[in-house]
Amino acid sequence: MKAWNLTSLGNGRNACLTLALMAALWVAPATAAPPPPPDRLPAEGGEVLIQPLQHATLALRWKEHTVYVDPVGGAALFTNLPAPSLVLLTDIHGDHLQLSTLQAVVNDKTLFVAPPAVTAQLPEAWRSRVTSLTNGQSATVGGLLVEAVAAYNLAEDRQKFHPKGRGNGYVLTLGGKRLYLSGDTEDIPEMRALKNIDVAFLCMNLPYTMTPEQAADAVKAFRPRVVYPYHCRGTDLNRFKELLAGEKEIEVRVRDWYATSRR
Ligand code: ZN
Repeated sequence: MKAWNLTSLGNGRNACLTLALMAALWVAPATAAPPPPPDRLPAEGGEVLIQPLQHATLALRWKEHTVYVDPVGGAALFTNLPAPSLVLLTDIHGDHLQLSTLQAVVNDKTLFVAPPAVTAQLPEAWRSRVTSLTNGQSATVGGLLVEAVAAYNLAEDRQKFHPKGRGNGYVLTLGGKRLYLSGDTEDIPEMRALKNIDVAFLCMNLPYTMTPEQAADAVKAFRPRVVYPYHCRGTDLNRFKELLAGEKEIEVRVRDWYATSRR
């Protein structure tokens, strides 16, 4: 630290600084809490920054790429991030697709990947930049490999929430790392059959997606190296951790996905 740090500032400037700090502190309680700090994943060509934002919304950054997953919740949530080069959209519900937020955060170069049911709801002006993928299809979009994975309910009484074929989960490859975003789904065979997943984001909340037991059972089948519960409001994540406590090769990362919704 150079000599011109705080101790060498004159009284007047100290006073200004104090006032500025007081103002910042005074303002803080009126604003939403910040999201958790990003996690860093070593990868080819540079780290992948994993930024949980809220519920099912996150950002992934690698080299010049900034990928938003299901950006909802208003533009303020994204103020510390670059505009997205790519947006992945999983389903039509408001916790995954919110046009007002999309319109506020994308720019005229942003590319999109979405299932057809979501594509149909995007503005006509964006269509040339949208890649529609159905379950099982893949594409390289903006230089990044995106594989669409099925996402649906298994239980008959829950299929009304997420019928097979409408939504997509994704496997996104960044710097050689394969990141799986489950979307809203139960522990379907397509998930259990995934191979070589470095990081998995798994939904768990009833009655819409999985129980911690279902999610843990699926994790034991496809064995991601790291797993983040997300889309998990009201779920006992300690239970999920307990169920995987014996799996020494699988790291469970619990993050506060609901920090920004508290004040
Ligand atoms: Zn959802």
